[in-house]
Amino acid sequence: MQNRYLPKVDLGFFPTPLIKLSKLSSALGGPEILMKRDDMTGLALGGNKTRKLEYLLHDATSKGCDAVITAGAAQSNHCRQTAAAAALLQLECHLALGGDPPETANGNLLLDNLLGAQIHWAGAKRKGETIPEIFERLRAQGKKPYVIPYGGSNELGAYAFVNALQELEAQLDTTQLSHIVFASSSGGTHAGLMLGKALLQKAYTLVGINIDKGDSDAVPFDRFILDLADRTAELIGSTVKFHGDEIHLEANYVGDGYGVVGELEKEALEITARYEGILLDPVYTARAMGGLLDMIRAGVLTSEDRVLFWHTGGTPSLFAYAEKLNKGM
Ligand SMILES: *Cc1c(COP(=O)(O)O)cnc(C)c1O
Repeated sequence: MQNRYLPKVDLGFFPTPLIKLSKLSSALGGPEILMKRDDMTGLALGGNKTRKLEYLLHDATSKGCDAVITAGAAQSNHCRQTAAAAALLQLECHLALGGDPPETANGNLLLDNLLGAQIHWAGAKRKGETIPEIFERLRAQGKKPYVIPYGGSNELGAYAFVNALQELEAQLDTTQLSHIVFASSSGGTHAGLMLGKALLQKAYTLVGINIDKGDSDAVPFDRFILDLADRTAELIGSTVKFHGDEIHLEANYVGDGYGVVGELEKEALEITARYEGILLDPVYTARAMGGLLDMIRAGVLTSEDRVLFWHTGGTPSLFAYAEKLNKGM
């Protein structure tokens, strides 16, 4: 495999476990289902952003930066893991969070505060639009800030998932997977998995479940992912290029939009908890699992398939959604 080694800092516990969801598989009468447990990366309750931050924060510290700035929703898992990583490396952490300060900080926001992050409320601008202002203010104070893009999704963040696929490969037996299903939202995970699959020459289908309608995004999400995969390939000296028909982004499950929990997510949360004792999160992984359940019921995925569900984390936000989740349970 053509692959340049990129340096990183250690922030989590790897490899994350790979397990079989045999109870869920047999209850559904569907495919064999495996799960990659990136909810167990260990960094302040874990998640897929730990992988990206290992590369991003190596870059930040090697450039001598003393503060990091990133952005997300109020319940951003990315921001919480960034706050933890910054604490570990003794960097100042600034988070531009969408919305307004809630009465009680719960879930990820509670953890951001505990971890010592400085919160900048950004109202409707939850995708980092206010980062440049924060950057300039820190510079004026004599700081050397480092900007981590929304969701950590640039070439370094995506590269972490090239590496993650190699990690997975070493854990799998010789039976090939047919599909990998995962939540796709800022694109780094998706782009990295696409590139990793190409470099490892795998035949399985990557099914990204789109989490965010992204109506206001300047670049269509599939285009963004393809470009990011190309740029990540370039970064590691690979000539791989991706085309529009190579991306599978499933947009059927966005429901009422980002962070709006509906029946699909509730059912997926309950089923996974009750058959496997595993907790998903209401925003990302329950939506993706809801998509997987639907594809099994619709016969898109059958007992002939061998599907891996990538658990990308997010469970701390469960508590912030308590009121919605308690209804009807
Ligand atoms: C960020 C996140 C994702 C999506 O990963 P991207 O690389 O942003 O597409 C999925 N699940 C959880 C829990 C996340 O926090």
